Amino acid sequence: MQFRDLKKQYQVLKPQIDKGIMDAIASGAFIMGKEVRELEAALAEYVGVKHCISCANGTDALTLALKTWNLKAGEAVFVPDFTFFATAEVVSMEGATPIFVDVDKDTFNMCPIALEEAIKKTISEGKLKPRVITTVDLFGLPANYPAIRKIADKYDLLILEDGAQGFGGSIDGKMACSFGDISITSFFPAKPLGCYGDGGAVFTDNDEWANNINSLRVHGKGSFKYDNVQIGVNSRLDTIQAAILLPKFKAFKDYELDDINKAAALYTEKLKDVVKTPVTPEGYYSSWAQYTLILDSREQRDGLQAHLKEQGIPSMVYYPKALHDQSAYKDLGYKKGSSPVAEMLAECVLSLPIHPYITDEDIEKVSRNVSDFLK
Ligand SMILES: *Cc1c(COP(=O)(O)O)cnc(C)c1O
Repeated sequence: MQFRDLKKQYQVLKPQIDKGIMDAIASGAFIMGKEVRELEAALAEYVGVKHCISCANGTDALTLALKTWNLKAGEAVFVPDFTFFATAEVVSMEGATPIFVDVDKDTFNMCPIALEEAIKKTISEGKLKPRVITTVDLFGLPANYPAIRKIADKYDLLILEDGAQGFGGSIDGKMACSFGDISITSFFPAKPLGCYGDGGAVFTDNDEWANNINSLRVHGKGSFKYDNVQIGVNSRLDTIQAAILLPKFKAFKDYELDDINKAAALYTEKLKDVVKTPVTPEGYYSSWAQYTLILDSREQRDGLQAHLKEQGIPSMVYYPKALHDQSAYKDLGYKKGSSPVAEMLAECVLSLPIHPYITDEDIEKVSRNVSDFLK
């Protein structure tokens, strides 16, 4: 059994993907070819925003957003304490300071109450100027945008939506990657919409930011490539990756999102009475980057993982440390207990195999083994 079976997906989509790759090579436009433009237009339409600017990976997409906002030293960015490292890393890379906000134990996403407390504390300490809230749509579920947007407005902060895991999710029909003032996603292979290497994209309705990000991703270009009006980066999407993403995006919309939601629903039906299963609030739709259980303790979690492994079932711990617990951030001086929920999750979560091509038999086998272990 595979944790996320990308080979099976390739077997199904092979004719279209192979043709896309061969056409891209034959065209000779290896970087930012016509497939890149086509993909950007299709993604912008799907998400429901004016601009999609593709780039080299999700981390760069976050960086491009922060650069276009001129984030700098002395400014604070509020990030959830329970996420992939890159969400905070890009803030530090720009010289600003991440402030770690605890998360909600039902949704794994940033807790709006903890967020407002962190903003107030930062203001009253007076050392850092609050600028941005980076929300993460963790495991495919959009963050609590209704509540977080209110807080952003109240304190005049920008929202950067880190939708690296969230592409395809929605709240009341409004799509993930449309909730931020700028939003991003990643096409890393194992993300909900993945390519066959690295890739990413930035989304925004703001013309000025979109233009600027378009410049920043090509060495700060001006009216043409060798007119450089600002310091930028080299962060473009390869034509081959766009050619791979186009048929994968069609499958994603046509059936993969539905199928992965059916898989998640079957897991929940089988497991809800034996273990804490993921909560999808009313009106929310997840793209299930992960299906994550919360066990009672680290011992129980580690025991379950070992038991599954013996049965040939892969599982993963996303994430084994809260961000404030990472060595890279030891100088920020956070203490144990600063984010009780994130710390508990790091000890107790376990993600099960899930992808659009998983069979009911596999889900039943995994569920049976989880139940047997816990009984
Ligand atoms: C994967 C991921 C990123 C980084 O994306 P890359 O394409 O790997 O650079 C950023 N944030 C979150 C939440 C992620 O899961």
